[in-house]
Amino acid sequence: MNDWEKAGKIAAEALDLGKKLIRIDASLLEVAEKIEARIIELGGKPAFPVNLSINHIAAHYTPFPGDETRFLEGDLVKVDIGAHVNGAIGDTAATISLGGNEELVKASEEALKEAIKIFKPGTRFREIGRAIQEKIKEYGFVPIVNLSGHGLELYSLHSGVTVPNYDNGDEKELQEGQILAIEPFATSGEGRIIEGKPSGIYRMEQLKPVRDMNARKILKFIEEEYKTLPFAKRWIIKKFPTAEFSLRMLEISGVILQYPQLPEKSKALVSQAEHTVKVAERPVVLTSLSV
Ligand code: MN
Ligand code: MN
Repeated sequence: MNDWEKAGKIAAEALDLGKKLIRIDASLLEVAEKIEARIIELGGKPAFPVNLSINHIAAHYTPFPGDETRFLEGDLVKVDIGAHVNGAIGDTAATISLGGNEELVKASEEALKEAIKIFKPGTRFREIGRAIQEKIKEYGFVPIVNLSGHGLELYSLHSGVTVPNYDNGDEKELQEGQILAIEPFATSGEGRIIEGKPSGIYRMEQLKPVRDMNARKILKFIEEEYKTLPFAKRWIIKKFPTAEFSLRMLEISGVILQYPQLPEKSKALVSQAEHTVKVAERPVVLTSLSV
């Protein structure tokens, strides 16, 4: 197995654990920590903090340090997991319904399957988008058009290549061997996300000289441990219990960037499904549990 295959397999197993842990009354913080521990146990590292985004939040929420939130009856939970092995990334997600909304969950799952079927050399990106859009519409929902899948490269979650969730007119063709994440989002709302509250997820933005000694120490740790990959506030606080102030300083000075949560614009429910797939005549789902 190469590192991409290993990372995919680890992400798949971690997602499988996540699906079992997400239950009414379970703590988000405990679930996230258990999934991340599983990734490490399996020989990988988290490629980004476990995202647990509920109901109208499409993406980008990870529990804060000391987070006391629990899953409630009726919650629609998107669990999005990244594992990496020497920088090679597996990115995969699923939606767990804690009551109702089964059709919405199915819409994104089935859209993902449709996209995978045609994930072959020569298929145009717009055709992938159209397949996703049409399948979601069949279920009576719409795709979120300003969220998309993405190319993956070593230590990079976004190679610059976009896999659209609607027919965006992109005539470029998929190429043999390309590794891309496909991630349809379906919603009963308008089909757009906006930027919301802070997420507890950061990434390195711009290396600048930092005067404060504590901040410098934290920055060095971030560079060594996460490189260009996203990291959680709770990971930093665990290592440096008094880092809150330094993190804020690094954020204000633009050295690190905190992602916003991504709520759906009309506050409607959102489901997501995601796999990392290698383009081939027989597409290879790297994050499949059964590979
Ligand atoms: Mn993902
Ligand atoms: Mn992704």
